[in-house]
Amino acid sequence: MSRTFFRHVNLIDGINPPKKNSVVVVEGERITNVCSVADAPVPAVNDLVYDVDGRALMPGMIQCHYHVAYDNISSLFDLDLKHPPTMLTLIAAKNAELLLRCGFTGAVGAGSLHNIDVTLKQAISRGLIEGPRFLACGRDIVTTGDSVDFHPSWWKLQMEGLGRICDGPDEFRKAVRDEIKQGVDIIKLYPTGGHGLAWPADVMTMTLDEMKAAADAAHERGKKIRGHIVSKRGILAGLEANLDVIDHADMMDEECIERLVERGAFVVPSLYFPYMVVEEKRRTGRSSWSGVEEMEHGLENSRRILPKANAAGVKFVIGDDFGTAAMPHGDYAKELEAYTNGVGISPLDVIRWATINGAELLGMKNDLGTIEPGKLADLLVVNGDPSSDITVLQDRANLHVIMKGGKFVECQLTPSKVTAKAA
Ligand SMILES: [Zn+2]
Repeated sequence: MSRTFFRHVNLIDGINPPKKNSVVVVEGERITNVCSVADAPVPAVNDLVYDVDGRALMPGMIQCHYHVAYDNISSLFDLDLKHPPTMLTLIAAKNAELLLRCGFTGAVGAGSLHNIDVTLKQAISRGLIEGPRFLACGRDIVTTGDSVDFHPSWWKLQMEGLGRICDGPDEFRKAVRDEIKQGVDIIKLYPTGGHGLAWPADVMTMTLDEMKAAADAAHERGKKIRGHIVSKRGILAGLEANLDVIDHADMMDEECIERLVERGAFVVPSLYFPYMVVEEKRRTGRSSWSGVEEMEHGLENSRRILPKANAAGVKFVIGDDFGTAAMPHGDYAKELEAYTNGVGISPLDVIRWATINGAELLGMKNDLGTIEPGKLADLLVVNGDPSSDITVLQDRANLHVIMKGGKFVECQLTPSKVTAKAA
């Protein structure tokens, strides 16, 4: 079998500081060698060799709060009334391919309707469409009158929309088991309001018993569970119920940090939206968004608490509500800048959130997330150095190689000639 050599790379392996003049060799779907130029094996004539001239080589990124079926959402009703299921599935398939072409070789769903995540995951693994490795999520499990239970009762829609309404531990258990029956890998709950929802952050929209019943039912069948949680009270309740992922966590404080580290739960800060709004105001002196003061205040809190939480070992991953009108699909890598320029986390740490931590949430820690011999070859060759300027990842033209499982999704490089003598 022929091999693919990437020589003279600036190696960002996900573990160590960057190493210039490294060589990475791929054979089949896996990485076989990661070494210096001096220690590299000699390529044979049928091997593909790319001399990449100091460009960065890093693991493929993993988007961990992904709504593949959000299509330019500008009101709650757009979530499930805008398109028929067939059209929405086709739109979602294009989004999945776009995510991969933006350098994200993995994704973890955060809520989808019509079982679209599951269908896409199956279509991607059968090779029907291109897309990332996928942990599929299903409908939003919520209680009667929750923010996501937004269709007026008098409409009598009776549709299987985004929200799946349950009350009491038994109904939560049944809903989780049914989602799993439909093929879902990760369950989504909405335990608190806030972060753009109608109910305020301090309102618990489900009880601890309901959350525990759902989490136990998911874990018993080897599945994961995540929750839209904003308040401190909600974060602590989510951890007590043993949720695997806390989405948003806006009101995280020192006590939450301690409990998050103890439990090993993942946190998706999803800071891109407030960062974008506050940056616009800083640049132009005004804002087109209401509530900008509250977002500035929230960003201030993030500046204080996120570096502390990162240093304490909280497992952060990246991901946000792309697919809303303000945050179109394709802008995914812009989120990374919110943590470096917005909050002061080092680019290398943010790359680790996007790669090694994401791989762990994906349940593929031993196969993905770093550049090491034996791992699957999900990797990027980047024109620029994301370890000093993370914004280079925002421009798709800089992604000179996107490789998933040893196969090129994108390759803008020209192979070097290998002489017969070297064979
Ligand atoms: Zn979301």
